Amino acid sequence: MQRTLFRRGCMLRPLEVPFRYLFGPGPSNVPPRVLAAGGRGIIGHLHPEMYEIMNDIKKGIQYAFQTQNNMTIAMSGSGHAAMECAVFNTVEPGESVLVAVNGIWGERVAEIAERMGANVHIMVKAPGGVFSNGEIEKALAKHKPVLFFLTHGESSAGLAHPVDGIGDLCRKHNTLFLVDTVASLGASPIFMDQQNIDILYTGSQKALNAPPGTAPISFNERACQKMFNRKTKPVSYLFDMAHLSNYWGNDGQPARLYHHTGPVSGFFSLRESLAILAEKGLEESWRHHREVAGYLWKGLEDMGLKLFIQNKDLRLPSVTTIAIPEGYNWREMLQYIMKHHNMEMTGGLGPSTANCLCITTNMKMFINHCI
Ligand code: PMP
Repeated sequence: MQRTLFRRGCMLRPLEVPFRYLFGPGPSNVPPRVLAAGGRGIIGHLHPEMYEIMNDIKKGIQYAFQTQNNMTIAMSGSGHAAMECAVFNTVEPGESVLVAVNGIWGERVAEIAERMGANVHIMVKAPGGVFSNGEIEKALAKHKPVLFFLTHGESSAGLAHPVDGIGDLCRKHNTLFLVDTVASLGASPIFMDQQNIDILYTGSQKALNAPPGTAPISFNERACQKMFNRKTKPVSYLFDMAHLSNYWGNDGQPARLYHHTGPVSGFFSLRESLAILAEKGLEESWRHHREVAGYLWKGLEDMGLKLFIQNKDLRLPSVTTIAIPEGYNWREMLQYIMKHHNMEMTGGLGPSTANCLCITTNMKMFINHCI
């Protein structure tokens, strides 16, 4: 039988990638050193040299998170992979989960937990709202959750939520404290161990300035106790920490076995971006973000624009949000900026869609383009 082939069409054209200034809340521009690391030749994901690189990544994450947790890895996947990994491994169907919702990320985690059969309770504030420790403790006492979720850097509202004291409350109520730092790691201080955070994750493509597709995550001893003493298996095979901990050499077994093929190039890039952060030092990275963000805030306010988060101390230094001025169509404004200046900025997300515009000040981007 004679078969005809579908046409090859656009695949015969070379790849075209325009230059863009990425001022949206991720991905951000990637510095040449990190791009070059990702462009190195591929080696096997189970080669000893790859294990060395993964061990380095683990050390880099431990520094960036300020933790000594052994159970520290990078997910093969974006920030959502880390979110799902955290929830799938520490919660069993029917268990109670408490989620602070003050923007889109709490909404997402609530949905992820609901989909896997958890009994989800939400505390809701308007986008950018701050939960007091008193409110959190009341909800912990009422719902007795096994897990409490809070977003540190709420990128859809431009908020850096205070974290101090919440880990202690979670301990008191026998709850694991899960914190999302996808948009804030490297820009706004976080001390995983000292703040008693049980599970912390981030993404590669924001202030770390690596390409999207890998996501650091760390679990402390309390979280390990819960996730490795389950009655049921986690719903995801790919995100099962029993397997991932072996792949990352964290389970004390002599051999690392095949589980899935890790994103080799993505890990090279992630290692390099963590190395740049370590060379710069966390304190300098936080200071630098704050300085550039302060400069941007002043410039915007001098132009008569209002920032969405009014309290300066609560503003996320990596994502600045502007209250949309009355009478302007934000979609048209963003299209104009993209068309005439090659700059990506975005609107809010989820509950903040109609309220604000987001601009990132992810540091290495400035170094990259200002030199
Ligand atoms: N959490 C926060 C705070 C984020 O800003 C993002 C990405 N915008 C995510 C989670 C999800 O990450 P990803 O898009 O890499 O899956």
